[in-house]
Amino acid sequence: MWVRQVRGFTLMELLTVVGIVAILTAILLPVFFNARLATQRTVCISNLRQIGLAVRMYRDDYGELPPYLSAVRKYVGDVRLFICPRDPQAGQHQVENTLGDAFRLEGNYYLPSGVSYTYVPNWAIARLLGWWQAGPPYGEGKWNELTPLSECHWHWAGRFNPTWQTDRVTQGRGWVLILTLNGAVRRIRVETSPEEFSPERYY
Ligand SMILES: [Zn+2]
Repeated sequence: MWVRQVRGFTLMELLTVVGIVAILTAILLPVFFNARLATQRTVCISNLRQIGLAVRMYRDDYGELPPYLSAVRKYVGDVRLFICPRDPQAGQHQVENTLGDAFRLEGNYYLPSGVSYTYVPNWAIARLLGWWQAGPPYGEGKWNELTPLSECHWHWAGRFNPTWQTDRVTQGRGWVLILTLNGAVRRIRVETSPEEFSPERYY
């Protein structure tokens, strides 16, 4: 009879395995993180497109734009469409009357499940710059169908910023997703100030 020899790992083998696992983790973690961000952005763009369709239907029925974004909820199948997956408060924002634009981000004021997206016609700066008339009916928009109707800011910022300007938001970098009146979703750099915005700034 012979005793089967049980051999453990040598120190070198263990270190090699640990090293390989560490390298794989370092390579794959950013990939997973970026994939998650991309998925969230895709969901958000889909939400905005469906909100755009709902606004179009509202406009066809009433002959004017809605007074606030969630006023189109009866044209939206699922109220979760109003929530961006990147919004850390999931739409549960308090209405803030910043620079005279109450209801630009209505939060849960009208819709208890909450709203992550802003409504540009209710933004005082947008009216001041002539993007929209005070409304409803708000008019046709300065650039007609290319005029920004709604925005998502959650892909570059963890909290809502009343302007998308870097001079008031330090180190703002990234993209604002823009739903235009024609129902398309475009993006602009957050560094673009409202004063210098025009549809040529869309990517
Ligand atoms: Zn979003």
